[in-house]
Amino acid sequence: MADVVVVGGGTAGCAVAAHLCAVTDARVTLFEAGDQFAHHPVNLFTSMSRPGVLDTSLVVSAIDHGERYGYLQAQVLGGGSAVNGLIVLPGAIDDFNEWCERDGLSEWSWDHVAPWFDIIATPTSLVEETSHSSVAQLLSDAWSKARPVPLALVSASRQSADSDAFRHAQATGRLSLRLQTAVSRIRFTGSRATGVDLVDGSVVEASCVVVCAGALRTPILLRQSGVDISGLGENLQDHPNIMFTGKRRVPFVEQVPISRYVAFKSDGDASAPDVAHVLGYEQIDAEGKLAGIGVSLMDVYSRGAIVESSTGAWTADFRCLSDARDRKVFVDIVRQVATEVVEQDLEATFHATDARHLSDVLTFLVTKSDEKVSSWLDHNVRTLSHAAGTCAMGVVCDGKGRVADIDDLWVADASLMPRIVRANTNETVAMMATRVSQFVAETLEG
Ligand SMILES: Cc1cc2nc3c(=O)[nH]c(=O)nc-3n(C[C@H](O)[C@H](O)[C@H](O)COP(=O)(O)OP(=O)(O)OC[C@H]3O[C@@H](n4cnc5c(N)ncnc54)[C@H](O)[C@@H]3O)c2cc1C
Repeated sequence: MADVVVVGGGTAGCAVAAHLCAVTDARVTLFEAGDQFAHHPVNLFTSMSRPGVLDTSLVVSAIDHGERYGYLQAQVLGGGSAVNGLIVLPGAIDDFNEWCERDGLSEWSWDHVAPWFDIIATPTSLVEETSHSSVAQLLSDAWSKARPVPLALVSASRQSADSDAFRHAQATGRLSLRLQTAVSRIRFTGSRATGVDLVDGSVVEASCVVVCAGALRTPILLRQSGVDISGLGENLQDHPNIMFTGKRRVPFVEQVPISRYVAFKSDGDASAPDVAHVLGYEQIDAEGKLAGIGVSLMDVYSRGAIVESSTGAWTADFRCLSDARDRKVFVDIVRQVATEVVEQDLEATFHATDARHLSDVLTFLVTKSDEKVSSWLDHNVRTLSHAAGTCAMGVVCDGKGRVADIDDLWVADASLMPRIVRANTNETVAMMATRVSQFVAETLEG
């Protein structure tokens, strides 16, 4: 019977453990740096404010030479799916066909991945926030195409990666869960992964290791373990985001802070908001006093990297908008959004002083030159915590998630994307992790 070690119990790690327990007789040990909770709050701000569930220790910059800040990453069983905004949008059909045609990943065309999206499909609900003072209403007034966004909710309960399938895996008795236990290094015998070292100094041997520590921690762990493959830690991507914020006229007291979005698509039939999307955030603070309108670029060409300094500290430089195509489209989209929003009754949603300030910012973006808007973006852009691409298939890993030239070492998380999908990433990560674990299962059986 094989002994499989999974490093990281986030969206991908839980999916890998669940699938391996379901389709093989392997014993699986899952190491998760964070803790386990019986339930996760629906509201992402309530969920994120629980002590210890976030790892903000990795300092990043969104743009070249930009301000440095702690990146928001989950550190809890369930990972991003336990704290995120619940948005369920699979990647666009073209994303996967491009992976297949441009990156030579023949197993990842839309025809190949569509059945796997069906297998892992997260159940969703549409939640309507329609009060006169809501951001959702403001978006609906500005765009007739504003729609409720599908959310990972069933009977008002968050559907996270540590929910049903994971509990079934625990019930097999073959899944051993090691919480608050960080892996410090992968062990090798020759060119074969043979286990992991834990931060407390103990050693765990395994027939194979599947790394799911997230797109920032996975390449760092591989590098710290001595893996030196060209491209490792490069190709870092995320969706750039601008947030227009203000104090709410009426404090938000509901559970679901994101309800409506507006998709900007390259053509009307595109399966995902493949250019950009605008999201209404009824709440952007723990108290529900502030609301926001988020504008995110989904079609991303810029590439960053995870970088080790001379002192051995790791940082991530996203280099958002460093590709001229991203900058041009984002300037256009942000101006389009500002043009629509500034025409709305902002005082219906925002406190009068903040509504006036917001109106001034929006007017600036509507009336100033591309250069001025571009410079404003440099000062205000952040990302959506959708980090991806740092162990890309076709570069660092093969088309099945196996790390190049190393036996029995796999990656199954957001790092694998050769190009970030043009959608929120969680559903695609869950699909990819399940797919990779099927490849692992076939290898264990073979
Ligand atoms: C605040 C926030 C909001 C988001 N909103 C959305 C949304 O609404 N919709 C959407 O589709 N996507 C959203 N995302 C993104 C989505 O959740 C992520 O793309 C997804 O969770 C990535 O999965 P992953 O398995 O690659 O990494 P993660 O889910 O981050 O899991 C990595 C896990 O590995 C653990 N770990 C790291 N290093 C080690 C180690 N050395 N040893 C042991 N364990 C380790 C971490 O503690 C963590 O639990 C959001 C993310 C965040 C953070």
